[in-house]
Amino acid sequence: MALTLTLTEHVVGFRAPLPTSWGVLDRRRLFLVELVGSDGVVGRGEAAPLGAYDGVSDDTCRAALTALAAELATIDESEPGHLILDRLTAVTDCAPALSAIDMAMWDRGGRREGRPVSALLASTALEAIAVHKTIGGVSAGDAGATAAEAVAAGFTAFKVKVGLRGDNGAPDLDGDVARVAAVRAAAGPDARIKVDANGAGSVDEAVEALRRLTGRGVAIDAAEEPVSGGDAWPHLRAALNAAKIVLELSIDETADREPGAITRGPDVVELKLARTGGIGPLLVRASLAQIAGVQVALSSTFDGPLGIAAALHAAAALGIERPLGLGTLDALDLSGAPDLAELATRLEPVDGRIMVPTGPGLL
Ligand SMILES: [Mg+2]
Repeated sequence: MALTLTLTEHVVGFRAPLPTSWGVLDRRRLFLVELVGSDGVVGRGEAAPLGAYDGVSDDTCRAALTALAAELATIDESEPGHLILDRLTAVTDCAPALSAIDMAMWDRGGRREGRPVSALLASTALEAIAVHKTIGGVSAGDAGATAAEAVAAGFTAFKVKVGLRGDNGAPDLDGDVARVAAVRAAAGPDARIKVDANGAGSVDEAVEALRRLTGRGVAIDAAEEPVSGGDAWPHLRAALNAAKIVLELSIDETADREPGAITRGPDVVELKLARTGGIGPLLVRASLAQIAGVQVALSSTFDGPLGIAAALHAAAALGIERPLGLGTLDALDLSGAPDLAELATRLEPVDGRIMVPTGPGLL
């Protein structure tokens, strides 16, 4: 018997437009897949391409999923899962689409076994994952108000978008500093604050920005992708050392284009399911990074609930205790998709942590 894949699409709005250094997000498309075999057990997965960010258009993702469905229809379901996944990677290299099928296979496997995916991946998995509150490149007033709400909900870690440009196209460092200072004022001195510039600056611009952002009244703890490109990272690290600017550095987009760059300056690498092609490839990337002495963090590309659940299971299996960028579901307005909204209610952070789902499969 072959495996049958069905595809549905949802266009989901953001509760409020989310400005970043690479554009403003106001809606996104989620591709949901259901994979079923002769036993009738259904596995669900999700593709969450974000064309303006990762270059994978909705049309590209849809075409890849259609091609994968055709391939699955020819595959003997009794073949081992890893052989099935090998055949699928020969069909397309579209990572969000492959990730959706990988998730559905893990979900199906968990449902068949009656166990959560995290228990399939590791004998000792975490029960909850710490997450940070993500704040977009909004005004200082809005950032402070969002941070205050998040503090009241129990968050102690924050990620704030920086690297935005003013109306004249020049970097708006004053705006960045004001936004982060407002978060610090609302969250208090003990909160953990990371900024994410999405590689917006040159090395010199990044050093100047981080000098101000680590200063009095702002005092960030960490920065994500302050520069872009593997050549820039060693220069950034050397310049920060020379200037005695101390903070944790995460590499994000650069590591996707140049995986070898993870050993050229960062302390942490950010991995995303939608870009690695699924739980399996993500665990390989994570383990190899850890062996290279680089810590691992997982984050979402504003994934839907199935993508967030899959990342939680992977993080639980990897035993990652640092706050991760997986608390992003509340940015989405799921009122037009009641099924997704119901799934999302099971993943709401409490006191800055999301419980890893304990039922069979992903969620
Ligand atoms: Mg990032």
